[in-house]
Amino acid sequence: MGTFFESLDDLKPGTVTVIGIPWDENSSFLKGPALAPARIREALLSSSANLCSETGMDLGSEPRFLDLGDLEITGCAAMLKEVEEVITGLLEHGGSVLSLGGDHAITYPIVKAYGKRFGGLEILQLDAHPDVYDEYEGSRLSHACPFARIMEENLAKRLVQVGIRTLNEHQRMQVKRFGIQVIEMRALQPGLSLPFEGPIYLSLDMDVLDPAYAPGVSHHEPGGMSTRDVLQLIQGLDVPILGADIVEFNPQRDPAGITAMTAAKLLKEIAALMIKSSADLA
Ligand code: MN
Ligand code: MN
Repeated sequence: MGTFFESLDDLKPGTVTVIGIPWDENSSFLKGPALAPARIREALLSSSANLCSETGMDLGSEPRFLDLGDLEITGCAAMLKEVEEVITGLLEHGGSVLSLGGDHAITYPIVKAYGKRFGGLEILQLDAHPDVYDEYEGSRLSHACPFARIMEENLAKRLVQVGIRTLNEHQRMQVKRFGIQVIEMRALQPGLSLPFEGPIYLSLDMDVLDPAYAPGVSHHEPGGMSTRDVLQLIQGLDVPILGADIVEFNPQRDPAGITAMTAAKLLKEIAALMIKSSADLA
């Protein structure tokens, strides 16, 4: 972790930093997402593709794009503390953060740092699951719970969930209780307009994609978005992106590497939009 802080004074404001958070101990069904950051980087840097986003930003020659490597995580309490501290530090130095999970439990400490830095934060969550259980299998920190914690602690003023297709009665009650705006997968239309007023934090759970497009996730949930649907939604955002995470990629279910490449592609597009956002906001 030391290297993060050693290099912070050299960080140029407006830099989009990538950090890997190899953590999957809060996963309920399968382990594997801890292996994701390394596999996403491998796909990103593979000579099979270049580092240019579709929107024309070449991350390979972009000084505002900086990979800081992975956090070393020793346990759940340490994860919560370390993620919040590291991200708080990066934000204080004018950077923004694109985190690579890890399971979705990492989003709670990330948003804690973001919510404290940016009052009235608005969040876009792309996911098959709402992740708003009050507790799951005895844990309130499960990857099935992060958005309940975020909303309870008023870390965001708005949460919009897109692609959801697993709501049960408890989760419907939680959605109502927290005033979450849910756009269920069955209601998703092309050209969807989202209700954001200001800059957003984007949390991308890879299982929002149909398993046909992204088989490398722990929870296969058929009937999801295509890769192009997700790209169009992200590229069509008319508000800046302050930060983002890409979570729940499970390399153990990705024998052909398709999901790794899909995560890397989404990383490129999101990073390019974040770089543009920080330049626009400066
Ligand atoms: Mn999730
Ligand atoms: Mn999910």
